[in-house]
Amino acid sequence: MIQWKCKQCGSDMEAPESLIGKGIECPTCRIKSIVELPKVQTPAEDARAEQVRKAYQNKIRRQQMELSPEARRGIVNNISIGSGCLGLIFIGIGFLLVVASGEPYSDSNPFGGYTMSIMGAVFLAAGFIIKALSYLIPPDK
Ligand SMILES: [Zn+2]
Repeated sequence: MIQWKCKQCGSDMEAPESLIGKGIECPTCRIKSIVELPKVQTPAEDARAEQVRKAYQNKIRRQQMELSPEARRGIVNNISIGSGCLGLIFIGIGFLLVVASGEPYSDSNPFGGYTMSIMGAVFLAAGFIIKALSYLIPPDK
């Protein structure tokens, strides 16, 4: 058996001697390498291979951290629904406060019924705006 590391991703590879000179696909990154007898690498070649490997691993890491458009749309949808629900709750509380206090003007109380209702309306509107913005996320790159 000949063993080596994939030049692209550094995965351990092995193949029988009978495959020397033939191409074999890396199971991890699908790059083909030619099976050859192991040769001693110069330090410069080692450093170069290490650089290529690191660049490849960074690229994979970036791809893994990036959210898919579906995931991003889901998050934006949840924020929109959250904002809308918060708005409805505030409007409800505001309405109850106005009814309960029997005194609709709330100059003395910043958290009076009208203030709550207006905040609710703002959250509700924000919910709809955020929902509309979610349609601007392109479906795929
Ligand atoms: Zn590979």
